[in-house]
Amino acid sequence: MKVRYSYLKQKFGNKALRKEIFREFERLLDEGDFTLGAAVETFERSFAALIGAKYAIGVANGTDALRISLKACGVGPGDEVITGANSFIASAGAIVECGARPVLVDMRGNYTLDEQQIERAITEKTKAILPVHYTGEPAEMDVIMGIARKHNLRVVEDACQGVLAEYKGVCVGNFGDAAAFSLHPLKNLNVWGDGGMITTNDPTLDRQLRLLRNHGLVDRDHVSVFGCNSRLDTLQAMVGNALIGETKRTTEQRRKNAAYYDEALQGLVTLPERRSYAKSCFHLYMFMVRPEVRDTLVSFLNAAGVEAKVHYPIPMYKQECFSNLPREPLKVVYIRGVPEAYGTFHEADRQAASVITLPVDEHLTREQQDYAISKIKEFFSV
Ligand SMILES: *Cc1c(COP(=O)(O)O)cnc(C)c1O
Repeated sequence: MKVRYSYLKQKFGNKALRKEIFREFERLLDEGDFTLGAAVETFERSFAALIGAKYAIGVANGTDALRISLKACGVGPGDEVITGANSFIASAGAIVECGARPVLVDMRGNYTLDEQQIERAITEKTKAILPVHYTGEPAEMDVIMGIARKHNLRVVEDACQGVLAEYKGVCVGNFGDAAAFSLHPLKNLNVWGDGGMITTNDPTLDRQLRLLRNHGLVDRDHVSVFGCNSRLDTLQAMVGNALIGETKRTTEQRRKNAAYYDEALQGLVTLPERRSYAKSCFHLYMFMVRPEVRDTLVSFLNAAGVEAKVHYPIPMYKQECFSNLPREPLKVVYIRGVPEAYGTFHEADRQAASVITLPVDEHLTREQQDYAISKIKEFFSV
């Protein structure tokens, strides 16, 4: 049996869905509404409604969604932005693109940043916090927003993996000043290429974000601020319009698949803490095993046809690009209450050495899950 990781063939193999999307493309060719326009507006409204946010602004990709949100929050050269030591590189990359410096704190056992370490990383240069809802697990937003209010910091949520993740009954994307979503083909709600979305509940930010993504153009003849071209492509918005209606159902299926794995694997592997008040959208289903057996288990599963993966073997903060960033502004950094040299992130290291990702998408069958589970049991000889 094969338990494949990518499900795009199944997702886009649906002929009726393809026809519907191609009909929309034809309509666009007839009407010539190529940039922004009605399809983008429709998608923005549906996306805002899906998340329960007041505003959604379509942009070119998830990284731009982060970068433009940070800019709209006033983040620029000389500023510091606090984020977790591990994520996909774009979380830190967007901060650096704004001319600001990412200041990292260690992770907690649920793969989000450890909110208990944020206050110790704040300096007079800190402008914002960028919590990542990594793997689809919501960061501890009540605590993070409390810290932000106390220290007058802005918050941009990296919700690129977090479509429909819920924290205390509210979808992520509603907590910070703004939140960034990715519509990349491998994300839960995806289009046929690159796309991104920003949500906000602040009308002033909404206006600013719309200006920034489209050259600062107030109208055809007037430019109020320097912006960039990061419009959500109209063709991709048409794909999004055809797919967005599925998102609630596919998310529920991912949650069911994850619960099934949890039930079968508990006691055998280390599952992340599951908080009663937080609902992951399971962009990734990740667990940990002892570092000594991690790579052999991944090879064993791969050889058996189960495409298990590692996200990521090198934690973000250890990537070469970080070696060029200045470090001196941080005087003391505390790791679990103990002052250490900046750049020591034990939990991020432990996770990088221990994590395994299994396919969890909505196209996965029970038989495939049972097969993957049986292979893990076989490996541990139980
Ligand atoms: C995918 C991703 C991004 C970037 O999204 P793109 O659409 O690929 O630019 C940013 N942050 C995280 C956590 C992601 O997973």
